Amino acid sequence: MGLTVVSPGGHTWRLTERIGSGSEGFVYGVEDARALVAKLVPDPPDPEAYRRRVARLVRQRREPRTVVLLAAPVRLAWPMIPVRTAGGTGTDPVDGYVMADMRRAYQPFGHLLTTSARRAFLPRATWATALHAALALARLLGELHAEGYVVGDLKPDNLWVDESGRVGMADVDSWHFTDGREVFPGRMRTPGYTAPERVGAPAGTPPDTASDDFALALLVHQLLMAGLHPFAGHPTDGSDYLSYDDNVLHGRCRLTDRTSVLLPRSVPPADLLPRRLVELFRRAFANPLHRPTGAEWARALAAETAPGRLKVCAVNARHVHTVERPWCPWCDQAGRGDDSYPDDPQEEA
Ligand SMILES: [Zn+2]
Repeated sequence: MGLTVVSPGGHTWRLTERIGSGSEGFVYGVEDARALVAKLVPDPPDPEAYRRRVARLVRQRREPRTVVLLAAPVRLAWPMIPVRTAGGTGTDPVDGYVMADMRRAYQPFGHLLTTSARRAFLPRATWATALHAALALARLLGELHAEGYVVGDLKPDNLWVDESGRVGMADVDSWHFTDGREVFPGRMRTPGYTAPERVGAPAGTPPDTASDDFALALLVHQLLMAGLHPFAGHPTDGSDYLSYDDNVLHGRCRLTDRTSVLLPRSVPPADLLPRRLVELFRRAFANPLHRPTGAEWARALAAETAPGRLKVCAVNARHVHTVERPWCPWCDQAGRGDDSYPDDPQEEA
């Protein structure tokens, strides 16, 4: 069908294949010597406001606060150039923007969260990779908050990761931010990644740094627990399992109340977490007023990556764990029927 987009300066790009879709838009490959993609948002609730939002983000690229965030290596798929579709007759043009193609440096974040995808796409990843990814994510979120940006819809689908644990973030156009006196509100939220105070809140309830910090704690837990959501599990109070959000609202979480949920025996053992991180998780999930910030997580996670804090299992070199635990948690898990970091992926595949 050959979609073409044009920039305000008149530069045109031919779009190639559709490479992704989200709640608000579609991402396409772009014919360009540089590694670029284009995001198009067909039906924003207020098209004029959406165009202004993209234009402001593009302009903010040159502001000191943003220049620091955009320093290489690329961590943010920040809007580079506003574009709109051209050439169609009888249809309204669709707005969007051109940004860096994160696939050049990263894998989808979700690939680090399941055993099969880890083996296929990030075969050298261990728990140390997960720890580094958690640190990179916490550090990035802390920096964004320090510069006045709120992500609002922090979730695996908006994130990227590589085998060394570097983390990237996309969907910058859905953030909550201000430009001068104008507020560009974040509206998006995703089941399973929403802070309890925003679950069921009226549409339009803006996100804040504390709601981002809740999602950060969820993601750090998923990283360190081989994908396990901290609010996973069947309620033990006689109710049916409805959703992560329902468990969030009722405080059903293995870390804060170990009797509140039933989980399969084969999930990673809770005691694989270093003590200082358990404390942060408990604060994050138990009390909205005392959630650790990205900066606080970054300090604690950095301490856990320090020399001497990690141990490699004698049985399986892919089993990496904290020195606080005298024996290997992944071997324990394997003994109960599942191994999140199985040995030698090629041979077993
Ligand atoms: Zn082991």
